[in-house]
Amino acid sequence: MDYSLTTNQQTLQKELKTFVQQEVNTQLCSEGWPVSFNRDLWKKCADAGLLSLGTKETRGLVRDSDFITMVIALETLGYTCSDNGLPFALATQVCTVQQSLLHHGSVEQKETFLAGSIEGILIGCHAMTEPEAGSDSSNISMLATPTNDGFSLTGEKIMIGLAPVADYCILFATVNPDAGRWGQTAFLIPTNTPGLTVNGPIKKLGLDSSPMGTITLSNCEIPANYLLGPQGAGAAIANHSLEFERTCILASQVGRMQRQLEIALDHAKSRKQFGRPVVEFQAVSHRLADMRVRIETARLLLYKTAWKIDQGQRAMLESSMLKLIISESFLTSSIDSMRIFGGYSYINEHETGKDVCDALGGVLYAGTSDIQRNIIAGLIELP
Ligand SMILES: Cc1cc2nc3c(=O)[nH]c(=O)nc-3n(C[C@H](O)[C@H](O)[C@H](O)COP(=O)(O)OP(=O)(O)OC[C@H]3O[C@@H](n4cnc5c(N)ncnc54)[C@H](O)[C@@H]3O)c2cc1C
Repeated sequence: MDYSLTTNQQTLQKELKTFVQQEVNTQLCSEGWPVSFNRDLWKKCADAGLLSLGTKETRGLVRDSDFITMVIALETLGYTCSDNGLPFALATQVCTVQQSLLHHGSVEQKETFLAGSIEGILIGCHAMTEPEAGSDSSNISMLATPTNDGFSLTGEKIMIGLAPVADYCILFATVNPDAGRWGQTAFLIPTNTPGLTVNGPIKKLGLDSSPMGTITLSNCEIPANYLLGPQGAGAAIANHSLEFERTCILASQVGRMQRQLEIALDHAKSRKQFGRPVVEFQAVSHRLADMRVRIETARLLLYKTAWKIDQGQRAMLESSMLKLIISESFLTSSIDSMRIFGGYSYINEHETGKDVCDALGGVLYAGTSDIQRNIIAGLIELP
């Protein structure tokens, strides 16, 4: 077993840090806080290769196309980027949207939408959640009625990441509500299709530079070649993409936890109370120790899960354990970090305070922690 990073991986970490510090953070924060989505910056990230992660293509700073490289890049982004929203948005695009296209798209869909996304010219979103179907995605009610040459879709999708800036959406509807999961079908629809309306960005608690919106379809007529995969395969496609999503979507938070630990440690060493640096109080040093343990645990499982996918193996159990571990660790470490910084972390948009808001989203999206525990309980295998 070899835990060391390859030369390419080490070079990527180094070059990516420089790229984010010099090219991304300045532009992201140029108009002050809260930051918002910036399409020029998105293109810059694409030119640096960040949207080719996990595809067969390599470009810019990205010289390998495996999943390990993807999670290392996202982890580095999380460490360096001044807002968690951009790494989250990039992860949504490369893990959820592009992996679905890569594995289930037709040749034409890949040539247009995948190629355009890798170039940073097109942006996609992944729309499953509805007002009455959150954790229970088998209950979606968006209806796709077959027509002479395609389908007519009606229904609403909510809380969709990147929807307000998306050029296309991968969207799940049912062709037969009585058939439950077997009626679910995936579609790839350009967002300028008549009958499709996007609303947003909606106000949310964190992840500022990743916009979220709703998508409403009202008798939206689409041709049959907008199907993504075969009719009735929607649930299988969504499940497959969730495995990739849960592996990568929180990778950036491992990097963020590393950064949190570094700044909390610096603060604990320099802040004096009762005549001593606060790091000398056991209550504070134990918090730092717990933060360190969480990073190690999360990183080991992150790399192992990515490695398993690179071996061509299924990783449903690992990706759920990983999603649970990283999201809960990031939330707990963000709160621990706030405690170490004391009242300063609660004012002036201190980055640790913002981390708490960002971390709260992590225990909800891509399946809540309760749902991950349900999956893990159903798949328990003894090593
Ligand atoms: C930042 C963010 C980004 C998102 N991006 C997207 C996106 O791009 N695309 C998309 O489709 N959706 C997206 N979502 C929506 C997200 O997937 C849902 O919020 C999530 O699936 C939970 O559904 P819900 O909010 O309806 O909660 P509910 O399903 O109503 O759950 C409410 C509570 O009940 C619990 N619960 C429900 N069922 C069970 C069960 N069987 N066992 C135990 N507990 C249970 C839940 O854990 C939760 O605590 C996003 C959400 C957030 C916060």
